[in-house]
Amino acid sequence: MDGRAVAQAVREEVREEVATWVASGHRAPRLAVVLAGDHPASASYVRGKRKASAEVGVESETIRRDADISEQALLELVHALNANDGIDGILVQLPLPGHISEKRVIHALDPAKDVDGFHPENVGRLLIGDPAFVSATPAGVMELLVRAKIDIPGKRAVIVGRSNIVGKPLAALMMQRGTDATVTVCHSRTQNLENVTRQADILVAAIGRPAFITQDMVKPGATVIDVGINRIDDPSRERGYRLVGDVDFDGVSKQAGHITPVPGGVGPMTIAMLLRNTLAAAQGTYR
Ligand code: NDP
Repeated sequence: MDGRAVAQAVREEVREEVATWVASGHRAPRLAVVLAGDHPASASYVRGKRKASAEVGVESETIRRDADISEQALLELVHALNANDGIDGILVQLPLPGHISEKRVIHALDPAKDVDGFHPENVGRLLIGDPAFVSATPAGVMELLVRAKIDIPGKRAVIVGRSNIVGKPLAALMMQRGTDATVTVCHSRTQNLENVTRQADILVAAIGRPAFITQDMVKPGATVIDVGINRIDDPSRERGYRLVGDVDFDGVSKQAGHITPVPGGVGPMTIAMLLRNTLAAAQGTYR
């Protein structure tokens, strides 16, 4: 499953919708990205979001703060962005420096600007099936499945990983009326994991362990979605590492009916869905 191509299609749709929105007299959607500290991967993620925003006509600004910013100062920044009518979406890049409570910062966001879908109000709305901002990665997984015309209703979906940003919201999306998968969520305390994963028609790996899902854990013909992004050392590469997923692609691709690669699978979808959320925030669609 080619995440790059699907993400490109979504971005093109967003670009057209933004153009129509602006042509009808509105200002361009505007995203504020808060980057506190110097976590190595964060800066490149933020650059990627900025570039992708510009390509679809979403204006973005990156607000940088030093790693020693106080929690109070960061909360005040969030409150100021909440109150700023010129900002439609706010994204606080995680992880935050260790002395700051990510929970308090996320809870401080205006849910109507929470384009990452991390605020408890959005998570609750998702769970009860109300319109909500949905976390971009699980939203991207669903979009990939739908556009690849994978049959979901009544099928058995197994998600390995129960994080608040991937596993749990994806489970909520998949079990939603209208999507209608039968969902099992696994985690590090799951017993006989391979017996569970082998029952999956749709298997999602969101674990954070390289090549964890092997061929023997997959039912023949299953759809396998690899959310994992892991850096492993690779001296043959200029940067000294390469990215691999949570699925042993070479082995599992012999068994699976459909499979997403890493890179080029779920990753590109995440940014595309964030752009869609930002447009929705500008349009007030989800409120
Ligand atoms: P977390 O570390 O928050 O969660 C990992 C989950 O995997 C936990 O629920 C954990 O169980 C479970 N787990 C760990 N070890 C095992 C095991 N041996 N057996 C079964 N379950 C296990 O990770 P995230 O959800 O944030 O991310 C998961 C992966 O997805 C990472 O590689 C991350 O980089 C990637 N990612 C990719 C994105 C994208 O855009 N494509 C976006 C976000 C994340 P327990 O809860 O019991 O600890």
